[in-house]
Amino acid sequence: MKVAVIGCTHAGTFATKQILAENPDAEVTVYEKNDVISFLSCGIALYLGGQVKDPQGLFYSSPDELSKLGATVLMKHNVKSIDNKAHTITVEDLETHETTTSSYDKLVMTSGSWPVIPPIPGIDSDKVLLCKNWAHAQELFHRAGDAKRIAVIGAGYIGAELAEAYSLKGHDVTLVDAQDRVMPKYFDRAFTDKIEDAYRDHGVKLALGQKVAGFKTTADAVTITTDKEAITVDLAVLCIGFKPNTGLLAGKVDMAKNGAILTNDYMQTSDPDIFAAGDSAAVHYNPTGKNAYIPLATNAVRQGILVGKNLVKPTVKYMGTQSSSGLALYGISLCSTGLTAEAAKEQGIQAEQVIITDNYRPEFMPTTLPVTMSLVFNPETREILGGALMSKYDISQSANLLSVCIQNHNTIDDLAMVDMLFQPNFDRPFNYLNILGQAAQEKLASAKA
Ligand SMILES: Cc1cc2nc3c(=O)[nH]c(=O)nc-3n(C[C@H](O)[C@H](O)[C@H](O)COP(=O)(O)OP(=O)(O)OC[C@H]3O[C@@H](n4cnc5c(N)ncnc54)[C@H](O)[C@@H]3O)c2cc1C
Repeated sequence: MKVAVIGCTHAGTFATKQILAENPDAEVTVYEKNDVISFLSCGIALYLGGQVKDPQGLFYSSPDELSKLGATVLMKHNVKSIDNKAHTITVEDLETHETTTSSYDKLVMTSGSWPVIPPIPGIDSDKVLLCKNWAHAQELFHRAGDAKRIAVIGAGYIGAELAEAYSLKGHDVTLVDAQDRVMPKYFDRAFTDKIEDAYRDHGVKLALGQKVAGFKTTADAVTITTDKEAITVDLAVLCIGFKPNTGLLAGKVDMAKNGAILTNDYMQTSDPDIFAAGDSAAVHYNPTGKNAYIPLATNAVRQGILVGKNLVKPTVKYMGTQSSSGLALYGISLCSTGLTAEAAKEQGIQAEQVIITDNYRPEFMPTTLPVTMSLVFNPETREILGGALMSKYDISQSANLLSVCIQNHNTIDDLAMVDMLFQPNFDRPFNYLNILGQAAQEKLASAKA
């Protein structure tokens, strides 16, 4: 069986390893247009902020490792076209510029995503950088050396992390977004108000509710014109989202409107010999029960493994995702899973919400810390649809627990009473998540009364 894997960051690396583990005789060829594999972009902000000293630690595999496992790894090879009827691909060697055609029995599309670059006048400036891969990480690191004033455009979680990192390094940072608050897709206002205060406390200027209309570049600066003001900086970083990199299969397999490849539960596309995983593919979003585009490494590695398990015959189903994610800004941990109240409303899903703050362990202990929590739930079925937590305490594993609750269709009543350990070092007789479930129960009870 000849297998062609197109793209090798996370989905491609995991797919290749799993295909070879399940099918040791498979002839797997990996085509990657860059010169590295398996780069963890989640480390970019940590590298820029100085927490990660050695960026080589941000790679967990290598072409050599995949070769030793039995793959033929062709780095700096760009797949230029796919003929799915003839089962062939055309590939350019980016060093020699030689073009060859190869056949495949199964094709794995793990070509990922690319930053959205809207057609704004002047955006192709050499002072407007992107943030996606290892080459970008190095440029963002080195170019910041000469840049006092940096604008980060896009206050999603990537822009939020970059703004924090550059501010901690002493740059004058402006965070620009068309939305009127930071990270609106992940957190409700009770959370983002606190984070916006933290940005201001650290000198970050928030230019929110402003749409970028143009860029004007001079020898030493770039001026970003929004519908409200002009912001002159030395460097701008564009972080407004990602789009699937799937043009090679346009018209050849079923896709969502944005070009994300649609797969069945076994990562197989509408062409039975083509599989897709990671940022190139849509995901099944459990809170809505629909397909969605959620480009996260969590999805990429799981889907990559499933390609390996299902390539020859459908074996293991994809469980879907809650889009659980987290970040830490200025010592505050923020984690979310599933729907926010606003997102539920936009999706036309009936939802109620409670937001409470409670200390994670008893006040008689030498220290404790407040945890702000949100729970979004269906008032009819009482099922949990989403949750978020924010604290100086590490609440990440509690977000994971809420993720499991959503996956398993647990109700607020399950959360209110589920068995959780009690010991004053850790929590109260009721864990703070039990208390969150109980607050949701009380809200529904008082609405009925
Ligand atoms: C700054 C940043 C921070 C992030 N932080 C997190 C985080 O904390 N947690 C999380 O879960 N996710 C995070 N993500 C998202 C995560 O990085 C992506 O979801 C993940 O990289 C997707 O992996 P992938 O392999 O599907 O695609 P990609 O990473 O996009 O890789 C696709 C690969 O395909 C190659 N390729 C594309 N076309 C071709 C072609 N025609 N021929 C040959 N090769 C090709 C590309 O060169 C690339 O190497 C972050 C992303 C960024 C940018």
